[in-house]
Amino acid sequence: MEILKPDDASLMRAGALIASGGLVALPTETVYGLGADAFNTLAVARVFEAKARPSFDPLIVHISALSDIDRVVRKPSPLARALMEALWPGPLTLVLPKRDEMPDLVTSGLPTVAVRLPAHAVARAIIAWSGTAVAAPSANPFGYISPTTAEHVARMLGDRVDLIVDGGPCRVGVESTVLDMTVEPPCLLRPGGMDLGMIEAIIGPVSRKAPGPMREGEQPAGPGQLDSHYAPRTPLRLMARGDLAQARKPSARIGALLFEGLSLGASGGPSGFAATRVLSPSGDMVEAAASLFAMMHELDGLGLDEIWAERVPETGLGAAINDRLFKASRK
Ligand code: AMP
Ligand code: MG
Repeated sequence: MEILKPDDASLMRAGALIASGGLVALPTETVYGLGADAFNTLAVARVFEAKARPSFDPLIVHISALSDIDRVVRKPSPLARALMEALWPGPLTLVLPKRDEMPDLVTSGLPTVAVRLPAHAVARAIIAWSGTAVAAPSANPFGYISPTTAEHVARMLGDRVDLIVDGGPCRVGVESTVLDMTVEPPCLLRPGGMDLGMIEAIIGPVSRKAPGPMREGEQPAGPGQLDSHYAPRTPLRLMARGDLAQARKPSARIGALLFEGLSLGASGGPSGFAATRVLSPSGDMVEAAASLFAMMHELDGLGLDEIWAERVPETGLGAAINDRLFKASRK
């Protein structure tokens, strides 16, 4: 891991690293973010791996210019536009309908995406050089406080990031205000660095989410939002590894979601399934996480009677994958 001062050469390097699937810790005015190409699911999976969260949570996608908003969201409402024009760049995150191209791994399967145009010149330069939109949660491992200096990041994440760009201490030091613009009236999901009074001066009264502080990485609890987390419509059964191939199948069309090539067994696969998907043929947990949502969608689209998924090993991202499969199985 390298720490660089933000000169022209290092900003370009950081942008190029993100464009090629790397992880870059970058300063924003709120806290340091752990940035990856939002459209590269492998890179996004590495972000979750570095943070060692036991579950996937939706990430904020960062852009470097207002004109890039259409790469991330579908048709922002006039109210959302008004906020962007008045208060961006700044510590304000807007939740808006996502574009289809935005991976489900970034939004945790939600049909919406959280987007922000940061005020920090270093963050904006890196995003601009990357040529993409940058998904970036705070650059701290699960359970640790958010980092406001490059040293915090180095101490907490060390070699789990490819590069840290040192932009000095963060000016705001608290996370961005998160506002859900897909409900009427707009709803405050997380208080943060942007004053609510300034928001309401532009768009009028905003509703508050149910009382209780939103802790680091807590799932969004805006009206109905938890329920809209992606779960297949097809009933999903979660099984222990190894049990899936042996289990007796009823006479129904069943799809199998397997962890690795080994699960297929010597015969090249458990027989009797109408469709089989393998999260990572080589048993690579990062690849498995990157494939998870897309494969759940694929199986869900086949009109099957049931999906049988096997639990993955609990190492690394395995816990987050199992958490997601468990939630899908309980729908
Ligand atoms: P952090 O990246 O640590 O600043 O946290 C991101 C915050 O944004 C969390 O509170 C998330 O729950 C919230 N968030 C991100 N995406 C969405 C979304 N699509 N809908 C609602 N809240 C979101
Ligand atoms: Mg955080």
